[in-house]
Amino acid sequence: MEKLVDDVLNGRVKMHELEKILGNANSATYVRRKVIEKITGTELKHIGYYSIDFNDVVGKNCENTIGVVQVPLAVAGPLKIDGKYAKGSFYIPLATTEGALVASVNRGCKIVTENGGVRTIVLEDYMSRAPVFKLKSISDVERFLQWIDENFENIKREAESTSRHARLIKIDKFVLGNNVWLRFRFKTGDAMGMNMVTIAVDRAVRYIIENFPEARLVALSGNMCVDKKPNALNIILGRGKTVIAETVISRRYLEEKLNVSPEDIVEIVYRKNLLGSAYAASYGYNAHFANIIAAIFLATGQDIAQVVESSMGFTWAEINDNGDLYFTITLPSLEVGTVGGGTRLPTQQEALKILGVAGPGDPPGTNALKFAEIIAGAVLAGELNLLIAFARNELARAHERLGRGKKE
Ligand code: NAP
Repeated sequence: MEKLVDDVLNGRVKMHELEKILGNANSATYVRRKVIEKITGTELKHIGYYSIDFNDVVGKNCENTIGVVQVPLAVAGPLKIDGKYAKGSFYIPLATTEGALVASVNRGCKIVTENGGVRTIVLEDYMSRAPVFKLKSISDVERFLQWIDENFENIKREAESTSRHARLIKIDKFVLGNNVWLRFRFKTGDAMGMNMVTIAVDRAVRYIIENFPEARLVALSGNMCVDKKPNALNIILGRGKTVIAETVISRRYLEEKLNVSPEDIVEIVYRKNLLGSAYAASYGYNAHFANIIAAIFLATGQDIAQVVESSMGFTWAEINDNGDLYFTITLPSLEVGTVGGGTRLPTQQEALKILGVAGPGDPPGTNALKFAEIIAGAVLAGELNLLIAFARNELARAHERLGRGKKE
């Protein structure tokens, strides 16, 4: 091993060749870590301390591995949820280094649960990929669009031949000049679906350009998908799961236990979440969806870069007919899965098991739908609590105490 460390340092062996030479990803990980320790003069004691088997990681989840990063994992809850797929009380796993976040979600769960819980629905469920094509003229564009409609069943058959779970449900068409984007929508079972859909669309595109040669593929992803970028399209058309959660918090509870009124919360939603976000031209008409989404994504092996569009969304509040607070959040583009990607890693599997959603659902797709409803419930709880904290003007104090360890 020490000789290999020297070989890498002297450039005789490349870091990415170590698995092949050693035939073992754990040993390769060790050698790379030693190389980085020597180059940087840094002891990587904690990065090198873990229980996972890199033979099950390299080639599936990560390359050029040197160890792990440990992020504290906590739970908030119980949170009572009455959804179509998620029913019962749940402890929410949250991986974060932001002090006060878990305490905030935890108090939100308590408030919501003591007021009867949260109700959830999933309005849309699909994953998309949108290749961009170049046509020679706009008359070719017109013929191309018609050809796509007429050949939908053939395209579907080709795409679906790549997977047991990918099911093509629609192709949205967008045109600018002689450029055409075909936004393929697929059901993907319990997978978030980005690999699955990319492979299926690749097959579909091959069929399209073989049979309509006037269309030239420019890129398999034409950025109208939209993956890992803030955007308005997913807000309007959805992507992943489009989920809504709602609750009612009684006036009495708010006034007696928390010293705030429903009107206080409604005003903050209007002036901060809606007006402030409109003024800033933000896609996040909310207080902090990203906090909860990122912490759950990290804990459960979701693709963390998809926090970008998964945390776009709206908070809405009003006074209901009984004078209580009606509170709801909408996540238009929540991209989550319970199989595939990072969900297969052991700690992430355990976190999914805490929620009762690890692995494939029966029937397929139901675990991911249940997971999406739980996330929406947790987002609602975290959002409500932060708005209450603003109304009570306790945000800075909580962060001093729980973010900087200051004693009260
Ligand atoms: P995946 O692991 O590539 O695919 C899911 C696999 O699970 C498939 O082989 C599927 O089989 C199988 N499966 C078993 N039971 C299933 C069930 N109940 N429902 C659905 N599938 C089931 O996962 P993915 O969600 O498609 O892709 C996620 C990964 O893509 C993440 O690692 C993410 O970081 C990465 N990603 C890729 C791109 C890209 O452009 N390729 C972009 C962004 C992110 P069948 O195939 O037979 O259905």
